[in-house]
Amino acid sequence: MHGSGRYAPSPSGDLHFGNLRTAMVAWLAARSTGREFIMRVEDIDTQRSSMDSAHRQLEDLAALGIEWDAVEYQSDNGARYAAALDKLPTFECYCSRKDIQEASSAPHAIPGQYPGTCRDLSPQQRESKREQLQAAGRVPAIRLASEASSWRVHDLLHGDYTGDVDDFILRRGGNANQGRDWAYNLAVVVDDGARGIDQVVRGDDLLSSAPRQAYLAHLLGHEAPEYIHVPLVVNAEGKRLAKRDGAVTLRQLREQRSVGDADVVRMIAESLGYPGLNTAQQLLDAFDVERIPRRPHVWE
Ligand code: GLU
Repeated sequence: MHGSGRYAPSPSGDLHFGNLRTAMVAWLAARSTGREFIMRVEDIDTQRSSMDSAHRQLEDLAALGIEWDAVEYQSDNGARYAAALDKLPTFECYCSRKDIQEASSAPHAIPGQYPGTCRDLSPQQRESKREQLQAAGRVPAIRLASEASSWRVHDLLHGDYTGDVDDFILRRGGNANQGRDWAYNLAVVVDDGARGIDQVVRGDDLLSSAPRQAYLAHLLGHEAPEYIHVPLVVNAEGKRLAKRDGAVTLRQLREQRSVGDADVVRMIAESLGYPGLNTAQQLLDAFDVERIPRRPHVWE
């Protein structure tokens, strides 16, 4: 065995057909290349995550024949994130969402990018901004003081991909009395590094996050993983499949459409170019990472 792959669901509701299909690809890609497979529950967003949802997701994945060597919960990994944060160049950011929106809609600003407002404040300016926030019962966010403005990654399906890197958030600010959340980009990179994950399979909506994450991995001394950003499942209008598209979760398919788990595996297999297979094991025996479809799959 060499290396590890993973699937990293956010437990904020049942997985739909598109999520299940990506999870299956992640498992197939790892196992067909002799890797370990880790299930990582991304429950750091404390407002939206629940243990109940995590358990349902794992049950559904297991029902399709996906198995894993270990499961970990990001909510257990706070010490790891804090240690990583200590090693990185950072600064406190006192901006509200509105401040950033206003600054990044100014002429010459790059839309959606952090405009750098708090990066070069003087100690006195920081002191007064910190006090203002404190008086409002809030704490600042922590951002990366990035030395790069773009970074290149390699993706098995998309080839070389270069994307913007800005002073992205590593730890969110907010209400001083609530737990402060670690940012997704930091947690993903730290956990992948800690586990020796060298293959990242996920939906291609996250391709644009990969350069930031690979840059962060570089700063933390981890090698960037092999990326496989899988084209999403879309509805008839070409929009990303969502719960509102009807019976799309495993449980809905069972209950509302009498579609069994083996049928769902067969539908996934067919969508990946392997018609007629209806167990995960059969699919694994046939699977070739080089043949993952390069186009979105349309849900009907
Ligand atoms: N938790 C993220 C999601 O469910 C995926 C993160 C990742 O795979 O890097 O969209």
